[in-house]
Amino acid sequence: MDREKAIVKVSVVGIAVNAVLVAFKLAVGFLSSSIAIILDGVNNLTDALSSVVTIVGTKLAGKAPDKKHPYGYGKIEYVSSVTVAVIILLAGLTAFRESLDKTLHPTPADYSVVTLVVIAAAVAAKLVLGRYVKAAGKTWRSESLIASGTDAVMDAIISLSTLVAAGVSMAFDLSVEGILGLVISLFILKAGIEILMDSMGQLIGERVDSALARELKDFIGEYPSVLGAYDLSLHQYGPERLIGSVHIELPDDMTAREIHGLTRQIAEDVYRAFGIVLTVGVYASNTADGTAADMKRTLTEIIRGYPEVLQMHGFYVDRSKKLVYFDLILDFKAENKAEIEAGVIRRMKERFGEYEFAAVLDSDVSD
Ligand SMILES: [Zn+2]
Repeated sequence: MDREKAIVKVSVVGIAVNAVLVAFKLAVGFLSSSIAIILDGVNNLTDALSSVVTIVGTKLAGKAPDKKHPYGYGKIEYVSSVTVAVIILLAGLTAFRESLDKTLHPTPADYSVVTLVVIAAAVAAKLVLGRYVKAAGKTWRSESLIASGTDAVMDAIISLSTLVAAGVSMAFDLSVEGILGLVISLFILKAGIEILMDSMGQLIGERVDSALARELKDFIGEYPSVLGAYDLSLHQYGPERLIGSVHIELPDDMTAREIHGLTRQIAEDVYRAFGIVLTVGVYASNTADGTAADMKRTLTEIIRGYPEVLQMHGFYVDRSKKLVYFDLILDFKAENKAEIEAGVIRRMKERFGEYEFAAVLDSDVSD
């Protein structure tokens, strides 16, 4: 089954289960005039709405790229997640206001055994649904499914607490409805804020997943002649469309024909193995050059005195031009980046005065 169909199927199951729960909870809630149960039902209603938005988002996101949107429509999924978050936040705010009112002006709820049975069944249904949706979300790498699965498990806990409240009220003739409603609304608000932060983060652009970055660099490093893979940068256009670039170090005696074959092969293999469209850039590395090796050792030594320098790569000595190239990755937190660069170059000049140094400050974009 393809990803889009799978997500739609899981979401439809979620909508159906939630719709049934909403109907039962609102009926039972109004019959027993329990605000906690009514809010619990409203909470499930937001879940059903979220699933609807997820389906619409996934459908739109699957649209093929065109001239105006050459990277496809994948990011719509993040927009739909933001919409879901806003729905949940609005529900949370309403729930909070209602519960506050109920706490200040309590009216006794009137529970029956049927109420308790309905809620208990709802708890079980939500737990099963939550596990199912979350597992599917992990299989299909869908943030929205994982979020709604987690949400469903949280909801089961909320419903469980309304069950406890009903029990307390039946046993001790004590109303904890309003307070419970406040707690439920805080949970709803928390869920909304988390989904909002997550999808906004994706829209703004986040650091490449550490495990993926390492796996990819190791994969590329395995090719014969590749001395190292650096500057891996990935841009996400939806969960299934990753585009990026990487730099590899190659021996400087390779021909354009050899480099052509190798970089094409890497790009093709990476696409097949990871589904990532990768542009491969090349740094030359000195072969059998004692002076270059000596300079590289010295540079490595100098850099050790700068804790802000996370990595040095792309080191290459052009003996005929008397020019030395290298890239430094500085910690984002380093404040005096230009000073560090100048300091490193100055100390290299002290040792190798006849050379010029062309340093590039790279961003620390991946692990
Ligand atoms: Zn670089």
